[in-house]
Amino acid sequence: MGTVMKGAEVAKEMKETLIREANELKEKGIDPCLAIIRVGARSADLSYERGAKKRMELAGIACKVVELSEDITQEEFEEEFQKVNQDPEVHGILLFRPLPKHLNEEKIKNIIHPFKDVDCMSPVNLAKVFSGDDSGFAPCTPEAVIKMLEHYGISLCGKKVTVVGRSMVVGRPLSMLLLKRHATITICHTRTKDLEKVCREADILIAAAGKPRMITGDMAKENAVIVDVGINVDEEGRMCGDVDFESLAEKAAFITPVPGGVGGVTTSILAAHVLRGAKYLNGISKE
Ligand code: NDP
Repeated sequence: MGTVMKGAEVAKEMKETLIREANELKEKGIDPCLAIIRVGARSADLSYERGAKKRMELAGIACKVVELSEDITQEEFEEEFQKVNQDPEVHGILLFRPLPKHLNEEKIKNIIHPFKDVDCMSPVNLAKVFSGDDSGFAPCTPEAVIKMLEHYGISLCGKKVTVVGRSMVVGRPLSMLLLKRHATITICHTRTKDLEKVCREADILIAAAGKPRMITGDMAKENAVIVDVGINVDEEGRMCGDVDFESLAEKAAFITPVPGGVGGVTTSILAAHVLRGAKYLNGISKE
């Protein structure tokens, strides 16, 4: 059986740095703070919110939740958003998406302060990710994948990486982060022909399709590295990834489980971004 890459191990390694950096900011009179903006109460959002609050608390970062009613108007929503966006005590904003259909997300993407945009909504930060500029914020999940691979000593330079999924939150930005690290990327989607073959060619196979256990044992080569970004619920109501862990764990050199894999690193990246946002906003560092 290959090495199981555990999110908790990576998060544990990051914890000390987060605490130290939060303390350094507090010594300068800056109390790092994340604001979570949630419209309605979807169970997936509430579950992520619980995890994020816990992680912020462990790192010594304040976390406030702005809960908005599902029937809020666009005008009221923008007003509430701007209050947080302009609040000097807030250093990072996480807005749960997708928003209810009647709300226009595009407007928000253009008004969020790029230094508070800790999960990469704004075109400014997205453009930086796509141009290989590290000074902005990449979306947390793609960065968590990179962190996971780095932690387990998996080099990317020259590797063939197949990414299944091309969304703007995971597949595409992740592909850009991998490209920046000199991997050769193939991005797959629903129109990809012979997906099995493309997956089998990969040294590193990353699944971000949102389809329960769609990557099966015959879709990866021996000793491949397999990263599962998917978070799904199967027919029996159990949480599972996009990868059929049982059939792939034997042949993979490294593999992430779900739960307990990438998802466990995402909130640590979010915490790191809030601290960086606090530094940027206070003119402490542009690194
Ligand atoms: P989207 O639904 O936005 O995108 C899914 C992508 O996968 C699309 O590009 C789609 O192709 C592609 N796809 C879907 N089915 C297939 C298939 N059968 N064959 C090939 N490609 C396929 O999902 P997200 O990117 O938002 O999320 C992906 C998964 O990651 C979800 O399970 C989500 O829950 C999870 N997630 C996990 C996070 C974490 O912290 N671990 C955070 C964010 C998401 P096409 O473009 O052609 O439609």
